[in-house]
Amino acid sequence: MKDFLRRTQRGFTSSRKPEQQIPEDLWHKCAGCKELISAKQFQDNAKVCPRCNYHERLDANEWVSLLLDPDSWQEQDAALAPADPLGFVSPKDNYAKKLQTLRESTHRQEAAISGIGTIAEQPLVLCVSDFAFMGGSMGAVVGEKVARSAERAADAGMPLLTINASGGARMHEGMLSLMQMAKVSVALARLGEAGQPHISLLLDNCYGGVTASYASAADIMLAEPRAHVGFAGPRVIEQTIRQKLPADFQSAEFLLEHGMVDMVVPRAELRAVLGRLIGLYTPKAHAVNAFASGNNGAQAFLRGA
Ligand SMILES: [Zn+2]
Repeated sequence: MKDFLRRTQRGFTSSRKPEQQIPEDLWHKCAGCKELISAKQFQDNAKVCPRCNYHERLDANEWVSLLLDPDSWQEQDAALAPADPLGFVSPKDNYAKKLQTLRESTHRQEAAISGIGTIAEQPLVLCVSDFAFMGGSMGAVVGEKVARSAERAADAGMPLLTINASGGARMHEGMLSLMQMAKVSVALARLGEAGQPHISLLLDNCYGGVTASYASAADIMLAEPRAHVGFAGPRVIEQTIRQKLPADFQSAEFLLEHGMVDMVVPRAELRAVLGRLIGLYTPKAHAVNAFASGNNGAQAFLRGA
């Protein structure tokens, strides 16, 4: 193996002839256990390491592909774009430029996508935040998308699922981003009055104003294994209270043990669990086969299905 993967200035290369080389995209190095695993096996397993169960982060589109029925997704509010209300510029940061770069690289306007789809033929409203876009942070547009999603779910009589990975409120929009916490809370209260549930799926990492508002204001709280969820990070808390925190502090398993989440659900089981939960709130005509579609989502994942 050492001979085969010889380090050069241009990266790993091989002394073998080109036709004997293994293409780089055949292997994936797990961020959890650092082992090389087959890229195909990793993809087929919905980006969960088969050796150590490390759940690699998915982007928003991958979540849609994984969980929803094929071709059921209808995105809404895709054109809502953030402004730069404060003209935020610092020596290391230029908000307007950063947004422009991210729009070009992600082909998306913001850190969240929202719309309507079905799981096991049961309709729901879905809003997914994407950590790759400014840490999934909540500015005015992300807040507006979450609030509109809750209002749509209330008006249409559908459950709301939010999938949440975020560093918190977006400091570049100052008070306008903090205001979103109150706005989404009011919209979620309307959803509750309409008798529809909010299911929140907490991913690694979810912190700050997002945890402190809509991500925690849910009827059913789910988390992925080993996800870290909190308000302030453990280092800040340790410095403030001057005490050592438990090793697994703010992990999904710790939160489950202390009653802060309802279930820790491995990615491979998520579609089936969500289908069952949504089925509890969906009229019988829609609830048929909530289980039957099982875990096809993981199998079809990233194959364009
Ligand atoms: Zn691993």
